[in-house]
Amino acid sequence: MIKLKPSVERLQAYFVNDIPYRVKLDANEGSNYLLTEGFKMESFSPNLYPDSDSVVLRKKMAAYYGCSPDNIMVGNGSSEMINMVINAYCEKDDRVMSFVPSFSMYQTYCDLCGAEYVGIETENDFSQNMDKLIKAVKEQKPKVVIVCTPNNPTGFVTPREDIIGLLESTEDSLVILDEAYIDFSEGSTIELINTYENLVVMRTLSKAFGLAGLRVGALIAKEETVRYIWKVKVPYNINVLSQYAAEQALENKDRVNAYISSVKSLRSELAENLEILGFKIYPSGANFLFVQSPVDNLYEKLMEKGVLIRKISYKGVAYNRITVGTKEENEILINEIKKING
Ligand code: PMP
Repeated sequence: MIKLKPSVERLQAYFVNDIPYRVKLDANEGSNYLLTEGFKMESFSPNLYPDSDSVVLRKKMAAYYGCSPDNIMVGNGSSEMINMVINAYCEKDDRVMSFVPSFSMYQTYCDLCGAEYVGIETENDFSQNMDKLIKAVKEQKPKVVIVCTPNNPTGFVTPREDIIGLLESTEDSLVILDEAYIDFSEGSTIELINTYENLVVMRTLSKAFGLAGLRVGALIAKEETVRYIWKVKVPYNINVLSQYAAEQALENKDRVNAYISSVKSLRSELAENLEILGFKIYPSGANFLFVQSPVDNLYEKLMEKGVLIRKISYKGVAYNRITVGTKEENEILINEIKKING
């Protein structure tokens, strides 16, 4: 076997477990599949290459996000673009910094290009001390700083003034704000792109729009920054079906908003029910809850019942991340936990 480069050779391949399930609450997908109702499959041409620049899609995204199409580049999910941006900015031994725990793929993307991932620990309650991050940025001069808000897996929402504080003190680092879950929280920082040229905001249609399977994400930044980063975009990266479906979904603002409100109220209800069962719940601005279970091995016990959640171990302590499901899915989850509890 010809050897991969050393930084890649030591990686573990990411295989997604194919576990049979009844209820899937492990990957934070949206369940608003009604958005795709009424799609007319004859409206696109699979024999032709897609619009390489996704002009119509970017126009519709711009209307939704309140910016110009020139502020947007689209990719195969926001993950493709986070990877692309880290790879475009970082050479071997450049640093990428974020709070930890956070989205595990940041580390993987760094490993792929040989960059060093520096994790700044969050506080005991998983809140973020922005002064600590800013100090570390000044000392270690990372090429890229990533703030995931709401954070995966903890659900913590970074206060707006902290984001501004970071941007005010990091003009030599690219700042990626990963807003994959921001639709389930308050506000967004997209308008800050006009002030900070080094700010790149990542959004996705995988969560609030329920299009995880179609892989559509947006990179939003100042026009000059977008044009600059465009060098690394591969041609025709969004297929015709995904462009078409995303365009239609973006027209359905009322449905998206109704779905977001329902997730928020189901999130509170699920948190209350889990709290009654003795769970510790961390405040979440996302479509999932980060929890500590009163029973050991909850993940394994629920998996036996066909209910998938995520298990996360951090500093030797076991946590779970549970996607907020539909009312019925949450009821199945709660009932199974009650049975496990005895
Ligand atoms: N950022 C975060 C924090 C995520 O949790 C995810 C998905 N799990 C992504 C980015 C990537 O989402 P997608 O590629 O589906 O847009």
